[in-house]
Amino acid sequence: MERFSAVLVALALMILVGAPAARATAMEKVGNYLLPVESGEIEGAGTAVPKKCDVVVVGGGCGGIYSGYRLLSGSTVIKPTVCTFEATNRVGGRIFSIRGLGKYADMTVDLGAYRYVDGRHTLVQGLVENLLKLKYVLYDPSSTTFRKIVDDKGDDLGFVTFVEELAKLSMSLGMKLFLNSPVTKVDRMPSTSSDTQYSVSVMGPGGKVMKVVAKHVIFNVPQRPLMRILQNSNLARITDWNPALDMPFPLMAAKMYLYYDDAWWVYMNRLNGTMNDPNTNNATTFNSSSLFITPPLRGRYHDGDWKCNADNSKCHGMLMYTYASDNGGTFSRGGQGLDISPYNGVVPRFYWNYAVNPDPSKPYVVLDMASNSGKNLIMAAHKKVVDYHIGINVPIPEPYASTYPSQAVVVVWDPQIHWTGGAWHSYKNGIFGSAVSTNYSDPRNAVPVASIKPFAGENIWVANEAFSAVQGWAEGSLIMAENVVTQMGAAAPTFISPERHACVLHPTYNYNATLCALSLNPLVQGVTRRSAAAAASSIALATLQASAKLASGRKLGTF
Ligand SMILES: Cc1cc2nc3c(=O)[nH]c(=O)nc-3n(C[C@H](O)[C@H](O)[C@H](O)COP(=O)(O)OP(=O)(O)OC[C@H]3O[C@@H](n4cnc5c(N)ncnc54)[C@H](O)[C@@H]3O)c2cc1C
Repeated sequence: MERFSAVLVALALMILVGAPAARATAMEKVGNYLLPVESGEIEGAGTAVPKKCDVVVVGGGCGGIYSGYRLLSGSTVIKPTVCTFEATNRVGGRIFSIRGLGKYADMTVDLGAYRYVDGRHTLVQGLVENLLKLKYVLYDPSSTTFRKIVDDKGDDLGFVTFVEELAKLSMSLGMKLFLNSPVTKVDRMPSTSSDTQYSVSVMGPGGKVMKVVAKHVIFNVPQRPLMRILQNSNLARITDWNPALDMPFPLMAAKMYLYYDDAWWVYMNRLNGTMNDPNTNNATTFNSSSLFITPPLRGRYHDGDWKCNADNSKCHGMLMYTYASDNGGTFSRGGQGLDISPYNGVVPRFYWNYAVNPDPSKPYVVLDMASNSGKNLIMAAHKKVVDYHIGINVPIPEPYASTYPSQAVVVVWDPQIHWTGGAWHSYKNGIFGSAVSTNYSDPRNAVPVASIKPFAGENIWVANEAFSAVQGWAEGSLIMAENVVTQMGAAAPTFISPERHACVLHPTYNYNATLCALSLNPLVQGVTRRSAAAAASSIALATLQASAKLASGRKLGTF
């Protein structure tokens, strides 16, 4: 009954919280930088910091917000007050959607995470589809594996929407969320009568340090940010942290999108598939000078946002030009980024000097033709796209082949990016879980189990992708968080079945294939407007092609 009431309360609150709305305004120009609307700035966050919170969550990534939600949404052994401190001005961490891009300020780009796996990402899918009731479509229309979050019309809403909505729901249940509030250290206080307590130092506005006393601390931060806090705290002088925390290492990833006022790939009905510069796929030719002087092409037609006008006679959109990462391998394959194959690592590093944000803790930049680096990058990339299509005998028709994109979004998730420390994590080459566990040799099993509570006897918890069994995915972070809150006494969640809960209730890589491979909800592809638009636009293109000269043989210099 108590659980049922909690569900009703949650549902009522969801209705109050309302459906997510796209927030798009025009971008601001500061010097050479175009500054778009960032996601996740939650209204109402950041009232006065209390002196005491039962649970302090460090980090407002998906794992931190989920921990807060779960502690507050079910009956728990302790009835906690939950305070979540987030270093940046937004929730979501490495789920980072920027909005308001393009000529009409209506394009959304996911700089980090962008999709979930149907039937495998139990917790993400349960939140998106069952709890928050967000709309979703196939990420790639030719594959049923991945889903992404969209609005009523089927347009990209940004993957961070589920974290934003979960944060709002958690706040309505009582979570206190503080943005722009980095935690700098967590000290174990001298033992009092019955309770172990921690003094959490938070850097507030103007550099003022505030101290909050907590009974439990949940670290949602990735490995490098966690090390930064722990090196500063007295915890490690009281008892060593479990060496599992040292086993992961961060990898780098990069993306680049080009904004075209005419989404020619939609007109050409190329709505899925990849575009690859052959040089970047071939380790033996990676020394080719062209790889270093021209932007490596590793694009996907199906990734970027696009929209058409009402009669589908004109579409504009974001073309994913590149998505590439270090190859971390797994412990069994070895691999530490650069050493496994020469081209891995080269591709993201090409974009390093472009993704320079005025705020060094941000991994991205938006460039246009008015800046030198923007012009050089955009022109070189467009030439490569044109040449690529000539090379595969599907030339881009005029006037589109001769029309440059007007914006580029470049993101490099570098391990030095302050609050994230890389794109995602792998395990160091040669590391065996047996160093921290008698039960597991695969670190994907041993590390999550050992790092969930890394200080013996302390109420210090870790829930982050870096230490999870499902590295590189939001699901990994949520599985750790689910195990943390369950160990703290939270009741089972209501948005997934008990069977599915059982399958995530061990943080290891050993999924129960039968229980965990079931699809949660059938795909309701309620959103057909986009394919209709594509079909109509490709008919328009056929007419255009009949009268226009194709781009065959054109080179950049002749534009
Ligand atoms: C390019 C890219 C593509 C990806 N694609 C996918 C995908 O398609 N699907 C998917 O599921 N996953 C994907 N991932 C992985 C996914 O983004 C991460 O696994 C997930 O977001 C990690 O969540 P987290 O909560 O564990 O950590 P984070 O998102 O890193 O959150 C940690 C939070 O802690 C904050 N923080 C750090 N230090 C402090 C401090 N001292 N005090 C307070 N706050 C602090 C940070 O600002 C951040 O908000 C992708 C990642 C990248 C980079």
